[in-house]
Amino acid sequence: MTTRTPMFPDRAILHIDMDAFYASVEVLDDPSLKGKPVMVGGTPEGRGVVAAASYEAREYGVHSAMSAARAIKLCPEGIFLRGRMDRYSEISGQVFAIFGDYTPLVEPLSIDEAFLDVTGCRRLFGSAEKVGRAIKGRILEEIGLVASVGLAANKFLAKLASDLEKPDGFTIILPDQARPLLASLPIGKLWGVGKVAEKQMHQFGIRKVEDLLAVPRDLVVGQFGDHAAHLLELAVGYDERPVIPVHEAKSIGNETTFREDISEAGHLQDILDQLAAKVARRLRSHGFMARTVTLKARYPDFTTHTRSETLLSPSDSSVEFRDAARRLLSDKLGRRARPLRLIGVTASNLVHEGEGQAQLFPDPDRERDRKLDSIMDRVHGKFGPMLKRGGHRE
Ligand SMILES: [Mg+2]
Repeated sequence: MTTRTPMFPDRAILHIDMDAFYASVEVLDDPSLKGKPVMVGGTPEGRGVVAAASYEAREYGVHSAMSAARAIKLCPEGIFLRGRMDRYSEISGQVFAIFGDYTPLVEPLSIDEAFLDVTGCRRLFGSAEKVGRAIKGRILEEIGLVASVGLAANKFLAKLASDLEKPDGFTIILPDQARPLLASLPIGKLWGVGKVAEKQMHQFGIRKVEDLLAVPRDLVVGQFGDHAAHLLELAVGYDERPVIPVHEAKSIGNETTFREDISEAGHLQDILDQLAAKVARRLRSHGFMARTVTLKARYPDFTTHTRSETLLSPSDSSVEFRDAARRLLSDKLGRRARPLRLIGVTASNLVHEGEGQAQLFPDPDRERDRKLDSIMDRVHGKFGPMLKRGGHRE
């Protein structure tokens, strides 16, 4: 938005996002692909989807998550490549190593994007803008790839900024620029407004962020529940969420203490299923996957037992967590129906989504589960408060 040296009295957050990452790595390794429409993902004959498309391919209307068959129709001369996750992970490691030279406060969002809290390094490295430009420059010089950078006083605005002038963008949103910029933004650009919520907003005549702000607060809260307060804060560019480095998040868990001890296996399993789904949802919302699932069970005399299972590969799937938790519960309880006063599910051994064995071509079952999870995440984002069931407290 501007190039003058910004002042960020409170926090300075960078959002750095590699441009067309998988496709760009392919071009880097095979320069003959430069300037050509390159797509990485499933084969056009198969049922695969496009995982990444070069900007040349995007000019044909191709975008990620589109079916490969449709992409090839739009762009018949396009070059389709199977992905090489190992190579992408390797380059990702190099990019994150550069981030780490500037601040320990790096929160990865995926294999190719991260938030960096550079508030503390402004003194050491100069202004936050200088730090951002230095990182962008080093990614180009040392790795040969292009990143887009957003700089702002919080995560929401920084992420918005990095997207504004993509590709090869460097965009600053100063605190006093946030409100006017947000006002004319489509409502779907607010975090947490998914497709379903966006449609509902449209039905209320809310198309831009300023439309939302024009609605009396009570009505917004009545319509969008718990989520409303956060939406209204984002709408004015306010976002207090901290940058959380991945190594600090060691586990994510939820537990429930019952109003009365429960011994009925079906009832326990019901509650456990909900806890497992909730933990998986929280992992997904933070962009984590977990290798280990742990069940915690507390008996009426307060003795507490835990039992863990290591998954075959890191997962954030509600179904996989549910199944693991059920296995642990039936191992734990065996045939005896001893009453419990608390159960909990924890996911640990976290990796970031995209690290470890990232699956570019997931098996159909897993893919179906993922689709279901993402639908449930959207439904939960909108109707979460209504989905809570009685019978236990958290
Ligand atoms: Mg990217």
